Amino acid sequence: MLQDIGEKEYHCEYLPTAPDLDRDYLLAFNKGRILLISRENWLIPKLAQMPGEMDVSALQFAFKISGVSFFLYMKEDLVETEELKYTGLNMLRGMKPLWMAFAGVTGFHLYRWYTGHKFCGGCGEPLVHKSDERELACPKCGLEVYPSISPAVIVGIIWGNKLLLTRYAGRTGGGYALVAGFVEIGETLEDTVRREIFEEVGLRVKDIRYYDSQPWGFSQSVLAGFFARLDGSDEIHLEPKELSEAVWVDRENIQPANTDISLTSKMIEAFRRGEI
Ligand SMILES: [Zn+2]
Repeated sequence: MLQDIGEKEYHCEYLPTAPDLDRDYLLAFNKGRILLISRENWLIPKLAQMPGEMDVSALQFAFKISGVSFFLYMKEDLVETEELKYTGLNMLRGMKPLWMAFAGVTGFHLYRWYTGHKFCGGCGEPLVHKSDERELACPKCGLEVYPSISPAVIVGIIWGNKLLLTRYAGRTGGGYALVAGFVEIGETLEDTVRREIFEEVGLRVKDIRYYDSQPWGFSQSVLAGFFARLDGSDEIHLEPKELSEAVWVDRENIQPANTDISLTSKMIEAFRRGEI
């Protein structure tokens, strides 16, 4: 999956160091796009490759991967060059090496949090970054703002030898998905599993079992994957605002996954192979 970056180690601790232009990486975003080096394979640029005049004061330490720091560029004024182009975040889904794709997606999550929390929600004063941890604080009223992560569940619903596969409404292309949704305030993860299944496909489930999890910066969330067994009627009542399709598919008829970066594809593949 996206976060499985092999021998590389992700360090989320807030331990900012002075930027090393030749060693450290630049994470620059603009309207949901990321600045990448355009070669035969897209890559994240080093700080030294930043186009034009660098405003060092606009660099915000993000995280480290195996001793190398990644910095967010907190302005959107960089001008594209022949080699450096802003490109859609979906480009990261196929980027190699995987640790670089993970850095881009995780950097986007942090960037969305920083840019969405410039001012105090209580009194409107500009927020100030704490020097020793990832926290924004209001110097006027004392409000403390920690990084925001939206928990969500993904559920593989099993009926005998079949798995319920879905397609999201309004999304063209792409493969099958599973029932999924965000956790609401006051719910356990299992409550969310039951509610989302009933809302999206009108089914009841039992034997809810946790499978695996995944940080997913594309939607600023952390995903918790579960499998559950059908309880009662197999008749699907589709919620058309959420899904365009939901079908029971026999294990033998499920197509092998063409990507291994998402928890969804890992779960479908695990069922297809008979591991579940
Ligand atoms: Zn305040």
